[in-house]
Amino acid sequence: SNQLELVQLTKRYGETVAVDDVTHAFPAGAYVCLLGPSGCGKSTTLRMIAGHEEVTEGSILLDGFDISDLPPARRGTAMMFQNYALFPHLNVRDNVAFSLRMKGVDKPTRHKRANELLELVDMGRFADRLPAQLSGGQQQRVALARALVTDPKVLLLDEPLSALDPFLRIRMRAELKKLQRELGIPFVHVTHGQDEALALADEVVVMNNAVIEQAGPAREVFNAP
Ligand code: ADP
Ligand code: ADP
Repeated sequence: SNQLELVQLTKRYGETVAVDDVTHAFPAGAYVCLLGPSGCGKSTTLRMIAGHEEVTEGSILLDGFDISDLPPARRGTAMMFQNYALFPHLNVRDNVAFSLRMKGVDKPTRHKRANELLELVDMGRFADRLPAQLSGGQQQRVALARALVTDPKVLLLDEPLSALDPFLRIRMRAELKKLQRELGIPFVHVTHGQDEALALADEVVVMNNAVIEQAGPAREVFNAP
């Protein structure tokens, strides 16, 4: 049931302990916001889950399997970045289909899947455009579709809304939440905005100084009415 667990997870960069012996089970199927001050270890945690950063000690379990030694593409995780990182020379459809192409999926199949995902994020009519011909919010939708094309068991989002203007940010919040509900997979969303976490999260995980300081339903953690 797509449960993600961190077991005694540690990351050191030389003398710096970025993540210090963290053990936590994320609730299955939940929208999780990972919150905390700059430098507390949020990104490092996310990058270790995604496989973009090696674990120093400990393990990462998905559905009970240790994924911490697998390459990123074989973990069942997908990550969406702050800057979207779309390939500028590929049109929207080919950006979304990119990892299917790397897996050797035939062209009709990957185009069909890319088109379905572009419909899901309401970008079907932009399939033939290049990223430079899209607004920030549109690029972000494409990045979402691209992250989802591998049918991940967990979606990881590193400050996905921080580059957007305030109005779009509010709208994309609602869309991310809706998408998470539709897909039924856990989203782990790094943010430093409390309001963002309160609006989005079923569960809030607060990091400070490389450890998880608090975790629970958003309203409990923030003591909101
Ligand atoms: P956050 O995402 O909460 O802002 P990070 O996970 O980026 O925090 O960083 C946690 C700590 O690890 C910080 O002290 C940061 O300076 C350090 N750090 C992060 N990445 C590296 C790196 N590649 N090399 C050395 N130190 C790093
Ligand atoms: P179509 O656009 O008709 O779907 P393809 O999916 O085969 O065609 O290729 C789309 C584009 O991806 C092409 O313009 C090609 O130059 C580019 N491309 C092919 N292989 C790679 C790769 N390994 N990395 C980046 N771009 C690639």
